[in-house]
Amino acid sequence: MKLKFCSLYSGSSGNCQYIKSQNATIIVDAGLSGKRIQGEIANIGEDPNKIDAIFITHEHVDHIQGAGIMSRRLNIPIYANEKTWEAMSPCIGNIKSHNIKILDDCTQIGDLTIKPFDISHDAAHPVGFNIFYKNKKISLVTDTGRANGTIITSIADSDLLLVESNHDEDMVIIGPYPWPLKRRVLGEYGHMSNEAAGRLIAEVIRKGTEIVLLGHLSRENNFPELAYKTVESILVENSIDVNPGVCLDLTYRDRASKVYEI
Ligand SMILES: [Zn+2]
Ligand SMILES: [Zn+2]
Repeated sequence: MKLKFCSLYSGSSGNCQYIKSQNATIIVDAGLSGKRIQGEIANIGEDPNKIDAIFITHEHVDHIQGAGIMSRRLNIPIYANEKTWEAMSPCIGNIKSHNIKILDDCTQIGDLTIKPFDISHDAAHPVGFNIFYKNKKISLVTDTGRANGTIITSIADSDLLLVESNHDEDMVIIGPYPWPLKRRVLGEYGHMSNEAAGRLIAEVIRKGTEIVLLGHLSRENNFPELAYKTVESILVENSIDVNPGVCLDLTYRDRASKVYEI
């Protein structure tokens, strides 16, 4: 069986990425109500009651909102690093002790191998994830103000890549946010711009990379078409063919992406 990936939701109103292999199903983040996440899993034709683990990138509400309720309702373990557990514990309610899992450098869930890597964001200990299945590799990196060396090394040679393309810098500068929030979004521990996403993707992509998805798009400071066109033009400038060539696509704040199989 191939590895299935679907971005159920991506953006500041909630994040949840769905990954299914032959004998394991995980979600990365659960940043909407359990009802909406389970509903969207059913919408893509999968079993919403069959989730083996929830992995958490960081404690911001758009990544954890439904984690507690889903863990309690479906008896699912939650994996997060120690600092993230400390920060999110007051927000997600009581979790049964056997479902509190401290994230290791390498976690095995059935035939999936999950490895976290550090990112640059204003949270306790935020991470991105690599997910390995047979010879395939998925990398997820959103909520990072900068693409540091760790990120570049970690996400290189992925078969499917989800990269944050949060905002257009000019739209942030002239947009409605108060200045401290603008500074946060644009800063080292904020979010990645369309241009930064394009440059990062151009740097890490290789011939075998099948699918590149843009995620965590801002509603106020971006347009889907602008994110797509900005990244596409940077890839083309770097002699990377797109559609046909690498499959560049968007994820959505309020609905699921396509279901990809690699
Ligand atoms: Zn976020
Ligand atoms: Zn965040």
